[in-house]
Amino acid sequence: MMRVPIFLGEGKLSYEDRPIPQIIHDDDVLLKIYASGICGTDLNILAMPPAHKAKPGIVIGHEGVGEVVATGRAVRSVAPGDRVVIAPRLTCGKCAYCRRGLDNQCTDYQTIGTTRDGTFAPYALVPERALYKISDRVALEDAALFEPLSCVVGALARAPIHPGDNVCIIGAGPMGTLFAMLAWAHGAGRVIMSDVTPYRLDFVEETLGVQPLHPQQRDLKQAVMDLTGIGCDLVVDAVGNQINTAIALARRGGNVILFGLRPHDNPPVNQYTITRYDLNVIGAFVGLHPFAQTIALLESGRIAPRRLITHRLPLGELEHGVALMRSGQAMKVLIVME
Ligand SMILES: [Zn+2]
Ligand SMILES: [Zn+2]
Repeated sequence: MMRVPIFLGEGKLSYEDRPIPQIIHDDDVLLKIYASGICGTDLNILAMPPAHKAKPGIVIGHEGVGEVVATGRAVRSVAPGDRVVIAPRLTCGKCAYCRRGLDNQCTDYQTIGTTRDGTFAPYALVPERALYKISDRVALEDAALFEPLSCVVGALARAPIHPGDNVCIIGAGPMGTLFAMLAWAHGAGRVIMSDVTPYRLDFVEETLGVQPLHPQQRDLKQAVMDLTGIGCDLVVDAVGNQINTAIALARRGGNVILFGLRPHDNPPVNQYTITRYDLNVIGAFVGLHPFAQTIALLESGRIAPRRLITHRLPLGELEHGVALMRSGQAMKVLIVME
C-alpha cells in the first residue's frame, strides 16, 4: 500500500491508503517516483473556484522523475532500472489535429495528473509513450523540471532568440525564470524581467543576473527604452494578461510570445500598435514535440533549472508546498518521496 493525496474536487485533498498500482495493459510502465514538482496547473486545480479541471478521485501531479520498476509485455523503449521523465499529455492520434501533426492541439487528450493518476505518489502507472529516458548524469532536480522546461523549449521554437538580443520576460515565476535561463543559453545580450513580487525579482536578479524591473516603481516602457534604446527583440508574457505591456516593450518588428494562461481574463488589445510596428504576436501552448530537444538540453548541462527550486518537502506536506507557491515567497517547490 502507499499513502497518497487524493484530489476530492473543490480545491480539496485527502490522504488515503491506495494499493501500489500493477501492470494491467501491455504498454503500462510502473514507476517508482523520486520527486515531483508543484506546477502552476496544480495551484489552479486546487484553487476555488478552480482555474483548471481535474477529475475527482485521482492523484494529481505531472512533473515527475522516477525509475522504471516493471513493464508490460509490449514495452520496448524503457526497461527496469531506467531513469525516466514524463510528457504528461496523452494525445489521441486520431483527431483532425493529431492527423495534421499538430498534436499539442489534440481535441481528445488525457493528461497524467488531471484526468488520470499522476505523480504525487511513491509509485505511478504510466503508458510507455509518455516516458522519456534521461541520463543518470543529469542531476535529479534538473530532471524534475523536464516538463515545464519542455513547454519553454516548445514556445521558443516559435520565436527564436538570436545572440545579442534584448529579451524581456513579464512574470518572474518558475516559467518566466526558465525562459530567462534559456535566453542566456541562446546568447541573449540582455535579459530583463518584471514582476510585482519583490521576492521573485530579488531571486532572479541574484540567481540569474537578469535586470529586474518593478512595474510599480518605474514606468516599464521608459525603463526598457533607457536600457535598450530600441525596445526588446523578444517579449514573453509569462503571466497571461499582459499583452498590452508586452507589445509596448517590443521593438518595431519584434516578437511577442503569449505564454501564460488566464482563461478568465480578457484584456482589450491595442491592435494599432501590432500593425503599425510590424509585431509578430505568437500564442504558444505546451509546444509541438519539444521533448527530445529538452532531454538533449538537460543532458548537455548547459542550463541548470534546479537553481529555481527553493523548497523541498515530503509528500505529506503537499498542501503546505501549494500555499508556499501561492504566497509568492517560493519559486519552485519540489515534493521528494521518502
Ligand atoms: Zn507543469
Ligand atoms: Zn488527437
